Amino acid sequence: MERTLSIIKPDGVARGLIGEVIRRFESNGIRIAAMKMLQMTKAQAEGFYAVHRERPFFDSLTRFMSSGPVVVMVLEGENVIEKNRTLMGATDPRQAAEGTIRRDFGTEIEKNVVHGSDAPETAAFEIGYFFNRFEMMA
Ligand code: ATP
Ligand code: MG
Repeated sequence: MERTLSIIKPDGVARGLIGEVIRRFESNGIRIAAMKMLQMTKAQAEGFYAVHRERPFFDSLTRFMSSGPVVVMVLEGENVIEKNRTLMGATDPRQAAEGTIRRDFGTEIEKNVVHGSDAPETAAFEIGYFFNRFEMMA
């Protein structure tokens, strides 16, 4: 059993997509092991996306991610890191496969509705960034 961190980004929350995104996870056999709604400060978003610090889009990305509430979730299931990435689709909604969350709802490469950890190491870091052990359902 594997765990990954999912975020419904500020554009997804603002556009009323919380239920739709969660429905896609649950109807694909993914279990929600933890969940909360919060708004990150700019500094918290910078810490979360620290791996992208040198990228040209870092300032814009962290401003966007701290611009409104997000829903953060721990997803659990077999092979869930890859499974979630498949359900999300490619980073750029225009490149994302049909039927994926980003293809169906993303509006641009930055405002692409969801985040998902990309490897076991990043999943562990990202889950620990938002949740402690008492917030995680066994
Ligand atoms: P995420 O980490 O959010 O799940 P990802 O792993 O598909 O997305 P990354 O390369 O990690 O993509 O980029 C992180 C986020 O930064 C993207 O989801 C997107 O919001 C933004 N981003 C990525 N590339 C660009 C770009 N060229 N221009 C603007 N924003 C970008
Ligand atoms: Mg990423």
